[in-house]
Amino acid sequence: QTFTYEFDTPVYKGKSSFPTGLFINGQFVDGIDGGTIDVINPTNGKLLTKVSEGSSKDVDFAVECAQKAFDTVWGLNCPGSERGRLMYKLADLLEQHADEVAAVEALNVGKAFSWAKGADIAGTISVIRYYAGFADKISGKTIETSIDKISYTIHEPLGVVGQIVPWNFPLMMLSWKFGPAIAAGNCIVLKPSEFTPLSALLLAQLSVEAGFPPGVINIVTGYGSTVGEAISNHMHIEKVAFTGSTLVGRKIMTAAARSNVKDVTLELGGKSPNIVFDDCDIDQAVSWAIHGIYFNHGQACSASSRIYVHAKIYDDFLNKFTEKAKNLKTGDPFAADTYQGPLVSEQQFKASVLELVCGSVLKHDKQRVMGYIESGKEAGATVHLGGVRWGNEGYFVEPTIFTEAKHDMRIVQEEIFGPVAIVVKFEDDEDVIRQANDTVYGLAAAVFSKNIDRALRTAQKLRAGSLWINCANQVHANIPFGGFKQSGIGRELGEYALEHYTGIKAIHINL
Ligand code: NAD
Repeated sequence: QTFTYEFDTPVYKGKSSFPTGLFINGQFVDGIDGGTIDVINPTNGKLLTKVSEGSSKDVDFAVECAQKAFDTVWGLNCPGSERGRLMYKLADLLEQHADEVAAVEALNVGKAFSWAKGADIAGTISVIRYYAGFADKISGKTIETSIDKISYTIHEPLGVVGQIVPWNFPLMMLSWKFGPAIAAGNCIVLKPSEFTPLSALLLAQLSVEAGFPPGVINIVTGYGSTVGEAISNHMHIEKVAFTGSTLVGRKIMTAAARSNVKDVTLELGGKSPNIVFDDCDIDQAVSWAIHGIYFNHGQACSASSRIYVHAKIYDDFLNKFTEKAKNLKTGDPFAADTYQGPLVSEQQFKASVLELVCGSVLKHDKQRVMGYIESGKEAGATVHLGGVRWGNEGYFVEPTIFTEAKHDMRIVQEEIFGPVAIVVKFEDDEDVIRQANDTVYGLAAAVFSKNIDRALRTAQKLRAGSLWINCANQVHANIPFGGFKQSGIGRELGEYALEHYTGIKAIHINL
């Protein structure tokens, strides 16, 4: 099967065409069980295409092929410079096809084309290039012991690694895992989200053109409960890297422990605070606060969803913030001036009874953003802006602002993963730091102040993996990203991520 789509939009005209099978051993194949998964267009709720539904048997086959490639043509059998060359080639191809890839991402996820191209695809290319440069620079140490002994270390690739990717930044999250894994010489078996598998398949097609040997890159589309579990339980997968919900992160860690004690990196949720002090540049703080929560429609683990504003500037900030939020253009991802499109899926959009409790998740809440809005209203918070669906079809939610929310309300404590900001007034620096830290998450935080002492003192006390001073939601290929507490384990990006894809061997020589 092939997915072919003619884009005839104001921002992109062109065609995309690629197979929708599983990508195993350098070829697109049907799943062994023959099923398919519907891929829905979130802008109108209609069927876009079907992709192969993988199973645990397909994961077994992919792992077998990946292991064979690792033992023969990849890993330490392939010089780092050659791995780097192939990665640079892939990045160049992505750049040549940037409009097409961005269009496919925008179509499948519902994000604005301009953001998909400027953030997702540009970010993907820079991450792949960053790690391509590392491919021939991974090295161990010699360690002096005594006159008649020499020891040295080798940083070896782990072998076959599993990677499970979410739907909010499908290709970019793929690159954060693909980059360090492939540069370090591992072979990958990667599962994209069942909601957004298309860009990974397009990348697979480009990887053939780039010349990667068969078996190095394997993409198995399928559901978490089948393909995802098969990856995390697999006895011959040495490590699994995951981005997604804390609930699934726990399952993966448990499966890793129960199977072959595989290494795990988990990049999970967040409920990131944004502290706006009275001595900040208000206009600057408002602009970044908008980006912090509404970028990608709030579907970002690092979204600055709790905005704490000092009482002295609260009204001024709220007025300006509301005005800007009101003017964010919601609509067709392919219209030139669109800022936010729909949420990714009906499950993310809908209202329903919520049963997810942070810290002790009882049941996976599959239908959330409107549900959280309802829960905020029921709990007595004020809907200051939005709080409703936009349009009559698709999964659009208007930019929403809650005020008058109490610290223990679910909208303040839990990850909504939608365009919903909670604005809270504070008066005391120590008290706001305490509130900001009082959550099960610890992924990111932002601080706005022109007083660098105050900003740094606050940054030191906030428990978060990424701290942004006078900015928000900043991610760079060379800077590590990841969380404390239930936001995850390990770091992606930067040199640090390579440590999670190599094993250290110490060799002792007796002279
Ligand atoms: P999820 O955690 O269920 O899914 C993420 C990935 O994990 C998908 O590829 C999915 O198929 C896979 N998966 C699901 N169950 C699995 C299992 N048992 N074993 C292995 N893999 C499995 O996330 P979701 O349902 O798509 O979204 C739910 C919530 O998760 C969101 O609303 C948001 O709060 C959070 N989330 C966070 C991020 C992030 O960047 N940290 C990304 C996406 C979702």
